[in-house]
Amino acid sequence: MSRTGNPRRRFSTVDGLRLFAAVLAIVAPACDPNAPTAQARERVILVTIDTLRWDTFEGSGNQASALPETLAFARRGAIFSRAYAASNVTQPTHASLFTGLHPWEHGVTRNGQLLDFELETVAETFRDAGFSTSAIVASFALDSDFGFDQGFDAYEAIFGRELATLRQWEGRRVPQGLFYELADRVVEHALARLSAAEGERQFFWFHFFDTHDPYGDTVTDEADLGLPELYAAAASKRDVPATLARARHLYRADAGALDRALARLWQRIDAEPSIVTHVVFTADHGESFGEGGALGHGDALTAWELHVPLFVVSPRVDPGERDDVVGSVDIPATLMGLADIPHAYPGRSLLAVGDSDARVWGMSSTAPDKRGRDGRYFAVVDGTIYAGAADGVLFEDRAGLAAPEAIDEQLRKAFAIFDGARGRGVSLTDPETRAALEALGYAVPESVTEEP
Ligand SMILES: [Zn+2]
Repeated sequence: MSRTGNPRRRFSTVDGLRLFAAVLAIVAPACDPNAPTAQARERVILVTIDTLRWDTFEGSGNQASALPETLAFARRGAIFSRAYAASNVTQPTHASLFTGLHPWEHGVTRNGQLLDFELETVAETFRDAGFSTSAIVASFALDSDFGFDQGFDAYEAIFGRELATLRQWEGRRVPQGLFYELADRVVEHALARLSAAEGERQFFWFHFFDTHDPYGDTVTDEADLGLPELYAAAASKRDVPATLARARHLYRADAGALDRALARLWQRIDAEPSIVTHVVFTADHGESFGEGGALGHGDALTAWELHVPLFVVSPRVDPGERDDVVGSVDIPATLMGLADIPHAYPGRSLLAVGDSDARVWGMSSTAPDKRGRDGRYFAVVDGTIYAGAADGVLFEDRAGLAAPEAIDEQLRKAFAIFDGARGRGVSLTDPETRAALEALGYAVPESVTEEP
């Protein structure tokens, strides 16, 4: 690894001795006593959970965390209490987690699109830096067909279970209808990957699907409950509170089963203290259970769909709860910071405490909303989520109230530019547009590539 060079290699001549002394004088004050030594075996593990709410992870009110083992592990590192997903569906957020770009920048604005091969992904950067790279994904939504395998030496997709009777997803055939897998089996494969990985430096991505509907599929003595049943109850206005209560109960049960499986991964990391291990854990989005009138994820921009767990456990990160505002787009810079790899990813590295007034931006994936608008955007401003579009009035999502005029005006401008950037001839990198966005608290990354 490149951190501060290796002085011993230079200790062969008088000149070398002088250089060594000079280098030592420069780097010594910056040396982190907890940082890994140059020779240590090192691995970076990104864990993404499909559909995990922040409050399910952290606990809220009189309800404890549904993932106590994972929360206990997280407490050894930095837990981010104000982390927001870049989108409320799987592919756009994962594309942001891998590129540091927002959906209208990387182009995956809804499920079913291909992650552009021209874009640099974290797996590619790790591989170029000499890491072995392996992934295990537990849902067809992240199948290699969609381009998420870029940069991985090994990409293992494990789908042994059917999702309802789905045979097609986003226009693609789901082989044998097998769409996803549960954590017990995924962890089994993940532990085997940890054992099999080659090289001194290793990057892993493990994706889990347990908390996605159907709810209760980890529970053997209760029937599953799928989103179609929730929608049916809502449409018929029959048994709605009871159906929602059952969905929440089963969702927590799934989160508990996930936690018990993940505990084996945390135990494995504990059992190998000689390997320097950095873990970044987050979710691609949360889930609504009737809050704000929404169900599932993808149709609404509610706090319950956007506010996600995020923690970093690493010898390079100070433990504690952090309240700086962060997002999916900050993950690539963080992963590279943990491994000390030079990079050009936008977003902030979470190794350093950031801005509690930072704005987080993102978008909903869905097809046109009730007013026929194609896609809706959101911004987190001073801890509040404002959702809307260029041509619509902005609403504070929780209360459904109009946004304050000043914020409404600012965000409409930004949203209009995002809309225009999506294949309608507006260039984000045009100097005037760039300056206008910067004035609104939005920095256009250097790595944005645009259609001619
Ligand atoms: Zn998802």
